[in-house]
Amino acid sequence: MDEESALLEDVFYLYPSRSIQCIVRLLEDKLTVRATAGHIKVVKYDSVSLKDVIGCHVMRGRTDGYYNHSDIRPDIGDPSAYIAIYTYPLTYRGTFLNKQQRRERYVLTFRILKSSRQQDNLAIAHHWRVAILWMLRQSSLPCAKELSRFPSVPPSTRRLLVFINPFGGTGKAYQIYRERVVALLAESDIEHDLIITARANHARDFVNTADLSHWSGIVVISGDGLLFEVFNGLMERDDWKKAIKIPVGIIPGGSGNGLAKAISHAVGEPYNTNNVISSTLNIVCGRVSPMDLVRVQTLEDNMYAFLSVGWGIMADIDIESEKLRAIGEARFTVWALVRALGLRKYRGRLSYLPVAGMEGYCKKNEQAKWKIERSKTMDDGFQWHKNYTKENGVCDAGLSRKKIERRSKSFIAIDSEEVTLPEADNVSQVEKHNYTSNNLEETYNPIFEVSKDENICNTKENDHMDENQSAISDQQSSTPSTSNADMYCSKLPSLSAPLPENWIVEEGEFVLVYVSLQTHLASDVFIAPNAKLDDGVMWLLIIRADVSRVQVINFLTCLQSGTHIDNPYVDMIPIYAFRLEPFSTDGFLTVDGEVIKSGPIQAEVLPSIARVMTL
Ligand code: ADP
Ligand code: MG
Repeated sequence: MDEESALLEDVFYLYPSRSIQCIVRLLEDKLTVRATAGHIKVVKYDSVSLKDVIGCHVMRGRTDGYYNHSDIRPDIGDPSAYIAIYTYPLTYRGTFLNKQQRRERYVLTFRILKSSRQQDNLAIAHHWRVAILWMLRQSSLPCAKELSRFPSVPPSTRRLLVFINPFGGTGKAYQIYRERVVALLAESDIEHDLIITARANHARDFVNTADLSHWSGIVVISGDGLLFEVFNGLMERDDWKKAIKIPVGIIPGGSGNGLAKAISHAVGEPYNTNNVISSTLNIVCGRVSPMDLVRVQTLEDNMYAFLSVGWGIMADIDIESEKLRAIGEARFTVWALVRALGLRKYRGRLSYLPVAGMEGYCKKNEQAKWKIERSKTMDDGFQWHKNYTKENGVCDAGLSRKKIERRSKSFIAIDSEEVTLPEADNVSQVEKHNYTSNNLEETYNPIFEVSKDENICNTKENDHMDENQSAISDQQSSTPSTSNADMYCSKLPSLSAPLPENWIVEEGEFVLVYVSLQTHLASDVFIAPNAKLDDGVMWLLIIRADVSRVQVINFLTCLQSGTHIDNPYVDMIPIYAFRLEPFSTDGFLTVDGEVIKSGPIQAEVLPSIARVMTL
């Protein structure tokens, strides 16, 4: 079967062996290696998925001299060509009972010796390289079977802008870059420009004014703080609508790496065993997924968050543990215990706009019954924009009149009504777009001019992307008299203006109010198990003041597994917007883990506005 569907097939020597010959086949989705003699397995991985291949390089033998097939001695020259194929397959490590998945680097190298003339061998190697690269970057070219229609040059390379915060986390970001990231970028032929930040806001100021057309993506090697700078720098540009579509990648190098973990979780990649490789693979493989941001407004400032807004015990843990930065992510665990023992209560007013029908929803078993399905959520998300009218200043989020009338104004417990929401098939369902193509015309992508050669067919993936993109813009344009730009205009009344009647309002003492956009705030904080990168909602977690220390410790312990939401004293509510008015300045208020001045704050979701690099 493999024989029939092989795009390329040839017999090469297996390097470093001088005698083993093998049949190498390039198929639509994988590369296979079989020994010519017998059926013995000659390589560790004799079938490698192209999804696990990041690139390949051609090398030449040492001398271009006369050569005798039966006598390959270095002194008379080696006219061979070599092709090294860089793969990162998933492997299992650990004991029988505690097996862990991880990515492992594995290089397949073949010696090509068909002719005594080195240039003939190099030509074969180059043909293979070009074919493999086109298969990787333009996955499943429908016409690839006609090999003459493979272009003769490899697809263009990408150029990335890389930021490193030398003081992020334990200060190892540059070392991570030098020792582990550079090699993967080189293996994938990705060029990059490096900026080591010299001060806070360096990255923000740079992306705010730079000509982004030089790069096809921005990568941050740091914690969530530097990423926050990048998203805000992009959103503060005059051309923000275009700028925010530039793909952004994250390699964990800080003490808070929530988004890196959330992306790995979303694409089903192992993270804890080798998070640098997992995250770098997201960057080199060349695909992107849409991601929501939220617009956050305070009395002084507007900003854009991708991770969280926090108030109460978890915000205090995040900020007060800064003094333990040297111990990395463990600082959160240590300080969690300190804060739980010295439990504080925080007075304030919390108002929020829940997803229709989900006002009283909080428990995990209920969550299992409905998971937000993207299209539905998008619909709701857009509904909330659609229902916005100038008269009331806000949408009604599709809530039925009956439900709205039943609400009281303080600590409302609305019995969850029979809500039937569509089931999403898979939590890790991430919509992937290839950004190594010419189809992201909205983004900066000058390097990726796909050959205009008519013989090169469009890829299936690109077709798929077009449909999705037009689906998104259809939804946007279906908003009456609302342009795409308006869709991202604030639909919230000003912070001092009253909120519409259909919001739920709670006033009193809280232990925690935490709003998350992502599944994870750190590798061991699985705060919103049902969140998705682009579900179009925020996940509001509330713990009110009538809890004991033991319950709080229990909550913090359960955060790692995501089972905290099963506790009766924890509410987890999907919302479109919220406003929080602390009654005193005790306690920190954080946005994406960074502290901001305590005071009234409100936020609303901007669905699918950003692009992140994903496997
Ligand atoms: P961590 O996760 O360890 O907090 P971050 O990447 O979040 O690491 O960085 C923390 C803060 O450091 C961010 O708010 C960022 O603005 C700031 N920062 C970035 N570069 C520098 C620098 N060169 N010197 C000081 N602060 C910086
Ligand atoms: Mg940080």
